Amino acid sequence: MSYSDTRFFIANQWQDAADGRTLAVVNPATGVQIGRVSHAGMADLDRALLASRQGFDTWRNTPAAERARLMRHAATLLRERAPDIAAIITQEQGKPLPEARNEAAMAAEMIEWFADEALRIYGRIVPSRVPGARQLVLKDPVGPVAAFTPWNFPINQATRKVAASLAAGCSIILKAAEETPAAAAALVRAFADAGLPPGVIGLVYGDPAEISAYLIAHPAIRLVSFTGSTPVGKQLAALAGQHMKRVTMELGGHAPVIVADDADIELAISSAGGAKFRNAGQVCISPTRFLVHESLCADFAAALAAHARKLKVGDGLAAGTQMGPLANPRRLAAMGELTDDAIRRGATVEAGGERLGQAGNFWAPTVLTGVPLDAKLLNYEPFGPIAVVRGFTTLDEAIAEANRLPYGLAGYAFTRSLKNAHTLSQRVEVGMLWINQPAAAWPELPFGGVKDSGYGSDGGPEAVEAHLNTRVVSVMNV
Ligand code: NAD
Repeated sequence: MSYSDTRFFIANQWQDAADGRTLAVVNPATGVQIGRVSHAGMADLDRALLASRQGFDTWRNTPAAERARLMRHAATLLRERAPDIAAIITQEQGKPLPEARNEAAMAAEMIEWFADEALRIYGRIVPSRVPGARQLVLKDPVGPVAAFTPWNFPINQATRKVAASLAAGCSIILKAAEETPAAAAALVRAFADAGLPPGVIGLVYGDPAEISAYLIAHPAIRLVSFTGSTPVGKQLAALAGQHMKRVTMELGGHAPVIVADDADIELAISSAGGAKFRNAGQVCISPTRFLVHESLCADFAAALAAHARKLKVGDGLAAGTQMGPLANPRRLAAMGELTDDAIRRGATVEAGGERLGQAGNFWAPTVLTGVPLDAKLLNYEPFGPIAVVRGFTTLDEAIAEANRLPYGLAGYAFTRSLKNAHTLSQRVEVGMLWINQPAAAWPELPFGGVKDSGYGSDGGPEAVEAHLNTRVVSVMNV
């Protein structure tokens, strides 16, 4: 299966680094190098910044209808290319091919939704208190955006940021993940082939800390958008604050799943249990803390463990694989550390709990019970295929546990009671709460968290609004 090296995209040219540096790209299912990606130095970033300024001048003056037309064209190309792009995603990230195909197809749908939003950016006229004045509220694109996207959904996370920027009339420099570079390049190629003017999208790779420090501080950049871990998000937000840059932060989570005594337990297992092992748990909204009413807890843990044991784990390219490897050795080491720590503190392994094989980054789908609250697993985001099941007696107790952590990204609940559903929707401190269903992160819905999970949104009209300056112009008749 083919896999190409990835180069920068600057001023509509695919380019190598000025000093020729590259980094290796490795298939996480085999540990074998499959390609290389260019590594930027300051000269490359300066070229990208200059192009982005010029691209912004062009794009902000491109009529919204034309912006939307180009975006829809890119979405069509992406959809046509989805099977090839899926193979790229699976080779560099590891997820099973059907999941990768869904990711590419959803990216196309997201671009189409944002293309339509481009047509709906309106200002308003506010009645004046004095005769003869006309008060206009204008919405203008904020300027070139610097976006940093991770490796877990290499095309989807980039699409959310690129599509919102382009809809608003902003240019964007994307620093996508070095571990999964070719998928993001395929996204950019679709826009390039659709006829996007030079400089509107730039794509660079390299040392993430060096690139973010340089771009965020640079006067050309007006908005910083990051998806990744909470510690890195806090650093980047602090830097953006020093330079008075607008910020969107989509950070980590530790999603609670509250299963009330009146829940449809089969629905809870199939939707939240199924979601736990999607993308090997490397999902910011992945359910992790299963808080189950004590009357159902033992049955629930047994059923979730049975579900985990049945999953077919293997190379994402192989037919029938339901869960692939972890995307990098860091995650494998983290799974070992979190599991060992939980077991040392008295946890019981109901399923998995160990590495599978010696080649590739495979970790068995894992279900643990009896994990004490001071275990690392119940305090740090596992970002991997580990579920913890804990019992509770009252809903208040479950809500207190759900809110105990500083994270507040996603939450799930299962109950047949309208009263419980209302209570949960008011009191669980998360940016996204799904009740009696798996997550449905459609483009039209806001996507973001509260507390340490960040601020701003990578979805819905809020994502476009974040890319706009609001200005007032008042004109007096003389
Ligand atoms: P990490 O914190 O080193 O990196 C996370 C992401 O941020 C990566 O894409 C990385 O390239 C980028 N990054 C790191 N330092 C940066 C910097 N100074 N400037 C700009 N970008 C920077 O961790 P990791 O080992 O790659 O991933 C593990 C953790 O990251 C997980 O625990 C999870 O919390 C988080 N994560 C979250 C998401 C998400 O969707 N919110 C996605 C991927 C990773």
